[in-house]
Amino acid sequence: MKHFFKRISIGAITTAALLVLSGCGDKAEQNTKTTTTQPAVKWKLAMSWPTTLEPLSTPPAKLAQMVEEMSDGKFIIEIQGAEKHKAPLEILDMVKNNQFQMGHTSSYYFKGKSISTALLTTVPFGMNSTEQYAWYYYGGGEELTKKVYDPFKVDCYPGGNTGVQMGGWFKKEINTLNDLKGLKMRIPGMAGEVFSNLGVVVTNIAPADLYTSLDRGTIDALEWVGPGMDITMGFHKIAPYYYTGWHEPASEMHFFINQAEFAKLPKSYQTILKTAMRATAADMMYDNFAKSTNAWQQMQNTYPVIKVKTFPKDVLKAMKASTDKVLNDYASKDPLFEEILTSQREFMAKARVWTKISEYDYITTSEMVK
Ligand code: CA
Repeated sequence: MKHFFKRISIGAITTAALLVLSGCGDKAEQNTKTTTTQPAVKWKLAMSWPTTLEPLSTPPAKLAQMVEEMSDGKFIIEIQGAEKHKAPLEILDMVKNNQFQMGHTSSYYFKGKSISTALLTTVPFGMNSTEQYAWYYYGGGEELTKKVYDPFKVDCYPGGNTGVQMGGWFKKEINTLNDLKGLKMRIPGMAGEVFSNLGVVVTNIAPADLYTSLDRGTIDALEWVGPGMDITMGFHKIAPYYYTGWHEPASEMHFFINQAEFAKLPKSYQTILKTAMRATAADMMYDNFAKSTNAWQQMQNTYPVIKVKTFPKDVLKAMKASTDKVLNDYASKDPLFEEILTSQREFMAKARVWTKISEYDYITTSEMVK
């Protein structure tokens, strides 16, 4: 998508769609005749989440509405939540086999099929969401993502981002590395491997059972997302220490599309779909940011006992060393993983210098004169 907007030909995207995007609805109505020759298309999209799990379920819902309106009701995408298809972690196969033409999921669920998929979601101590989107759209990420998913005949696009996730809810404070030894924690993915190397007993518990497990002491700590999504889970009522993030600095959701089905679409529908994916992906990040802003205020007001903590420096150093070891071990076994990791590391090294003197220093400076 590097040159995506440059490639859009005005003839390819319907005038109506462009006018809807720019908010000129009255003119759009006059131009709807331009789309009357387009075929009726009906697709199905399977999500990894239940329909009610906002904001993760929001991008597909908004995408379907946008695509329908931009195609004057011709291109319909029917959404199925995990509560219906019952296969939340099998989205890749279902799209590959064309049971569903599209999916909405997160790439790292498929690390069992290709370890490189994990790097496309988020990396512990890796890029934040702005840096990661810059890498994807303008730093070679799109081309590398294609390399990962081409063998499955599936295209993978950004589908929403949580922004920085919090380090999780802990019943006890973590003061030394020793406090991690034997700690029972729900922390999935690569971060789970990192913590496991430091003596944490990493467990995998279904989301619906997390609250009870934490309450009854089956686990001592867990991570979920951030205030916006954590508040409905209620963890803040039973675990007072809320640690700041390190492990999922920019978790990306993803849209999957069956390549053969995409190729059959008229060019205008392809462009509508790509535009809607890009818009709804960005939208989820803003949505989740607003939800966290409001939820954090509410949590603090209702439970002033909550203490925000950052892991001590020596604990963080051990976590970073463990992260590097996990990443380097995978890189030594898988050339594509190594290629993506190198690309991300090189981009981040440049980007972080800019982030520090721009966003980071702006916030530090403005806080100084509050
Ligand atoms: Ca998480």
